[in-house]
Amino acid sequence: MRAICYSIKDFEAPYLEKANSGKHFIFFEKEPLVTATAHLAKGFDSVIIFTGDDASQGVLEQLHGYGVKYIALRSAGYDNVHLETAHRLGLKVANVPAYSPYAIAEHTVMLMLALNRKLLTAHTQVQQFNFSLSGLTGFDLNGKTAGIIGTGHIGSVASKLLHGFGCNLLGYDIQKNQMLEQAFGMRYTSLNELFANSDIITIHTSLNATTRNLVNHNSISKMKDGVMLINTSRGAVVDTAAVIEGLKSGKIGSFGMDVYEHEKGLFFYDHSGEILQDDMLARLMVFHNVIITPHQAFLTREALTNIADSTIENLDCWKQGKANGNEL
Ligand code: NAD
Repeated sequence: MRAICYSIKDFEAPYLEKANSGKHFIFFEKEPLVTATAHLAKGFDSVIIFTGDDASQGVLEQLHGYGVKYIALRSAGYDNVHLETAHRLGLKVANVPAYSPYAIAEHTVMLMLALNRKLLTAHTQVQQFNFSLSGLTGFDLNGKTAGIIGTGHIGSVASKLLHGFGCNLLGYDIQKNQMLEQAFGMRYTSLNELFANSDIITIHTSLNATTRNLVNHNSISKMKDGVMLINTSRGAVVDTAAVIEGLKSGKIGSFGMDVYEHEKGLFFYDHSGEILQDDMLARLMVFHNVIITPHQAFLTREALTNIADSTIENLDCWKQGKANGNEL
């Protein structure tokens, strides 16, 4: 199998090389897959892509025209792939469904704790020889109500961790997970009930037509005053402009985001030295009660190992004509 791996980063190439151990010819390309770079896939059987790559209708048609047959995602989320087009063209697509839900769930809890205990402010103050405690008051997680929107792989681990802190759990998902109800006392509710009763809301749904802008002006108005909101799922699940309004009014007490609606081309790259053009991001960056991480929740050694192993397994299956359980 000849594969071109778009958007490759220095930190992940060694993991892919190790997993591949010379079985397939993989060309590492730093550029992302977009209309202008699709031609680089000429002569390859498969393309390997990540979340910031564009596998929309037009790009898939280009790839198909160049003879590409397989699309292997190095991610769980596949909202960047126009699946109907892929199916129509006979392109096979596979993802890495659960490479490490722990990585993302742990990062989620890290954002909660850092926001709650004003970690970044405290660190900055101490570096300036300011050991004052003013403004650093947080709250006990124990006994608080956490609303988990999306209780799949990552939402389940987040639920377990928050149960460990003594939180009461409210869940919202189109598919209930009985294990969470039995083991951690999760109570599934309507979205409105979750909004109205949660001190902390954390989002772990996939991004699709029904979850796009699920958190918007209307839903924010139903939340508790001072609610903590965390999004490590996909940026567009929240309407960022509405969140900014919520932060300005104090309705949202703090916001932790690992993903951003307009992150494509921005996150994963070093833009220091450039002039920031994104006014929405600029506004988010100056709130003292917002923490932004650059889509790094997945970034653990274990996750990178599993992503690489599953990606190569997906190529192996296609090469050998075997059934592939990760196909979408
Ligand atoms: P998953 O498929 O296991 O879980 C997603 C859950 O969302 C499912 O239980 C599904 O039923 C639910 N869902 C789908 N549509 C819904 C709707 N309309 N209303 C309510 N629930 C709905 O996925 P996962 O692996 O747990 O990933 C969760 C999210 O995290 C995805 O958006 C994924 O893209 C994102 N993710 C982020 C990172 C990161 O580094 N920040 C890494 C991996 C995954």
